[in-house]
Amino acid sequence: MPDRFDALIIGAGPAGAAAGLRLVRAGARVLLIDRDPFPREKPCGGALSRIAVRRLLSLGIRPSDVILVEAREVEVSFRGARPVVLEALAGGGFTTRAVLDSRIIDTFREAGGVFQEAEPALDVDPSRGIVRARRGSYRADLIIAADGSRGTIARRFFPSPRTHYAIAICASIHPDDHILDRFGSRARCEVGFIRDGYGWIFPRGDDLSAGVFTVERHPRALRRTFDAFLHRMGFGSASRGPVRGVPIPVGRPKRRYRIGRLIAAGDAAGLADNLFGEGIPWALLSASFAARRGLAFLAGDARALDRYDGDLRRIVAGPLRAARILASIIRIAPGIAFRFLIEGRRIRRFGGPLRIGRRGEHDSGPDEYPRRGAGL
Ligand SMILES: Cc1cc2nc3c(=O)[nH]c(=O)nc-3n(C[C@H](O)[C@H](O)[C@H](O)COP(=O)(O)OP(=O)(O)OC[C@H]3O[C@@H](n4cnc5c(N)ncnc54)[C@H](O)[C@@H]3O)c2cc1C
Repeated sequence: MPDRFDALIIGAGPAGAAAGLRLVRAGARVLLIDRDPFPREKPCGGALSRIAVRRLLSLGIRPSDVILVEAREVEVSFRGARPVVLEALAGGGFTTRAVLDSRIIDTFREAGGVFQEAEPALDVDPSRGIVRARRGSYRADLIIAADGSRGTIARRFFPSPRTHYAIAICASIHPDDHILDRFGSRARCEVGFIRDGYGWIFPRGDDLSAGVFTVERHPRALRRTFDAFLHRMGFGSASRGPVRGVPIPVGRPKRRYRIGRLIAAGDAAGLADNLFGEGIPWALLSASFAARRGLAFLAGDARALDRYDGDLRRIVAGPLRAARILASIIRIAPGIAFRFLIEGRRIRRFGGPLRIGRRGEHDSGPDEYPRRGAGL
């Protein structure tokens, strides 16, 4: 394998693999490295909103390639009270990260990209374009840090004292088959039992994803809250996988998204929403921008990466800010918000702020994202 590439991408989650795929399809020589062996199961609810699905489609990845269960209905309850059943917006669904991430990586490889798993990046020289990894050093004209919210490269080069980290923990639940069948394509969410957050049960075919999310700064006894939630949902004694979680960076602007030849994308750039903790659509969107500006940079446009900085600022100032504002309103009076939004069916079809996708519903190029904030 040559040690010189046009682009080197650190992290093979949706942000890194999608950026790699776009670059390699445009003719660049791309190396994608990840610290972990694949397939790996990153802690994640696996909900793909229709914006995420449209971004995947724009990569040529069909929903049927990755969605295990289509979302049809969402049952939402407040503190264990009788749930309200909402129709889900058509187009979204549920998956596992082993399925989703492997699919994007396989497509990247089929397009001619080089993928090295179990190859952690240890250090980067952003001005000379050198990445030092466990098995050797690589040179590249463009480097993308897509190493997630806890990645060493992102944290070293793109620290952000202003980024707030939400926390979510989740586990895979394995109930009896008849319970799985009864679940069908209905997701369940509960609000009001945890401050500034919610709990979820998502169907994935062979199992369920269950978890709790909160943006509270120092949540106490989160594990106990999770256990109590599972118990209320009737899964107290169901067999389950390990409970895992990672912080989710919820959308405040970073000081910068570019240093020399190095740019950040996805969670590494702090792009997740404050209301649901949804990050996959923004990871995929930042990947589109990273590839577009990266290609211009590789073609000799020295200012292209500065424009990438502007692209990400618009995501943070647009849809992510809108989600943050809505979350703060709900936080002040969750009971009233539930009655108004859910019982009043003002979120008529579940998707909530994800309906900010209205403009993105006609997805086309990477610039296609909502500019005017959330509209319920
Ligand atoms: C419990 C939980 C539930 C969630 N549920 C949802 C959901 O249902 N829907 C949704 O849209 N979002 C959800 N999110 C958010 C979503 O998981 C992230 O926003 C998304 O994974 C971001 O993608 P990414 O590619 O930026 O980073 P990641 O998916 O985190 O990928 C980063 C990759 O970088 C690799 N890496 C790290 N360090 C290095 C290194 N030094 N060298 C090489 N590789 C490295 C990691 O191994 C990893 O593969 C959830 C998050 C959590 C924690």
